[in-house]
Amino acid sequence: MSSLGKGVAAATVGALLQSRNYSIRIKKLDPYINIDPGTMSPYKHGEVFVMGDGCEADLDFGHYERFTDIKCSAGDSLTTGKIYEKVLAKERCGDYLGSDIQVIPHITDEIKNFILNGHENVDFMICEIGGTVGDIEGLPYLEAIRQLTIDLGKSKCMCIHLTYLPYIRAAEELKTKPTQHSVRQLQSMGVQPDIILCRSEKNITDDIKTKISRLCSMKLENVIAALDAENIYLIPHMYHRAGLDRQICRHFGIFSEKSEEQAEKEINKKWISLEHAVRAPSKSTKIAVVGKYIKLKDAYMSLAQAIVHGGFANDAKVEVEWVDAKENFSEIEDRLKNVAGILVPGGFDSGGTDVKIAAIKFARENKIPFLGICLGMQLAVIESCRNVAGITAATSREFSTDGEYVIDFMDSWYANGVLESRTICGHKGSSMRLGNYLCKITPGSLAHSIYGSAEVTERHRHRFEVNIKKYAEVFEKAALVFSGMSEDGSLPEIMELRNHPFFIATQAHPEFRSRPFAPHPLFAGFIAAALRYQG
Ligand code: GLN
Repeated sequence: MSSLGKGVAAATVGALLQSRNYSIRIKKLDPYINIDPGTMSPYKHGEVFVMGDGCEADLDFGHYERFTDIKCSAGDSLTTGKIYEKVLAKERCGDYLGSDIQVIPHITDEIKNFILNGHENVDFMICEIGGTVGDIEGLPYLEAIRQLTIDLGKSKCMCIHLTYLPYIRAAEELKTKPTQHSVRQLQSMGVQPDIILCRSEKNITDDIKTKISRLCSMKLENVIAALDAENIYLIPHMYHRAGLDRQICRHFGIFSEKSEEQAEKEINKKWISLEHAVRAPSKSTKIAVVGKYIKLKDAYMSLAQAIVHGGFANDAKVEVEWVDAKENFSEIEDRLKNVAGILVPGGFDSGGTDVKIAAIKFARENKIPFLGICLGMQLAVIESCRNVAGITAATSREFSTDGEYVIDFMDSWYANGVLESRTICGHKGSSMRLGNYLCKITPGSLAHSIYGSAEVTERHRHRFEVNIKKYAEVFEKAALVFSGMSEDGSLPEIMELRNHPFFIATQAHPEFRSRPFAPHPLFAGFIAAALRYQG
């Protein structure tokens, strides 16, 4: 079921196999009917992760990239909507002339093709199937898996089933029934799991493992405990100790005592180094994140992870005060007075704007380190235009039908020397600037000292831009500095504030590129500034 950690488990399988020197690729198959999660509310589906190529995808891709440092692309993400879109396009072209289109074989063939596509380039193709066993939408996927295990044979294919063992407090007992039932349901569809990864908040005794092994037709060593961890970066080492990668290697006949020793060394070296960063950092700080989707943790998954990485870079534990911009207007200053940094993340439409702007004003006036991301940058521009330059009607075209649009819709620019254009009334998706764009950074700026480079490529996902063509003079008066510009010099990418020790905002989404082993410079710099601020 969702939120159980399938994404982290798939990412962990990838990371452990990498530590054994195997190359991997991770794909995700989402049974829902949407073409992609781009138009879904973060409250419904968590954050929309943006890949370098601009593909809007499930947040699990963030785990894959963070744990393994691979770069995922559009070809790694499949939804039922995408399959039907393709199959129906083929049907209109007459590709199936003479036959009726059916779930088996036409839809299942597309699923199998998707899984196998590019397999020759890697040692392991790891495919995560979203949803829960028994979901109607998921049936064609499980059927495709059944067929694949026959097409390829068990020596080239294995199924890992992630289940949940609920703990019944009154009886002080872990229950295996849901696991038995979901395995039985899989078996009734012809799929036999090879490993059961048992998520549980309590230790799983040998008796319970034996019971699962017996009732689910599984070798005892292949019933693997997947216990709760205080931090997700402790999971690869935990699952390794529980035997996950060893049993995968045994399954594929690539196990040897020597390779086991080598893997042990590699995995310890890599993942134990993070254990110190997680468990015993020497410093600590507290920052506030002021956003609209605070109630669901998954809505800011990459952001929260990038903040953790920023802590790793500074040997510091970072506590986050999550401030709901939709609720707390009268209390905002109270909520912010004990934090050493304020971050306003990305978002859409005008909800919570007043609170976010008040938080930005508080950071500016009190010289508290500030990091604005995407909408956070647009609001920082609006705040200074209103409160420093005195343009009280300053706003974004996204929020209001009149006013001074210091944030506006720009219909064209050059990227890689090619003219790109969009229309505001186009498809919701096609009016966005999505994926990697180059930014040129002014030497000597704060951005330059943070990135240590005059050029940087970051991922984007937004519709509106800072209107520097029309309002350059106002921005000057508001003490704004645009220290990063798009390749053609037309679109502001990074803004800073004169006369403030650390006030920086970016039109891009740096959180998608941050890694535990390579914290993003903006987050590392922001946490460093927070530590300096608190003294
Ligand atoms: N809503 C803003 C825009 O579309 C910002 C988007 C974001 O923060 N990702 O431009």
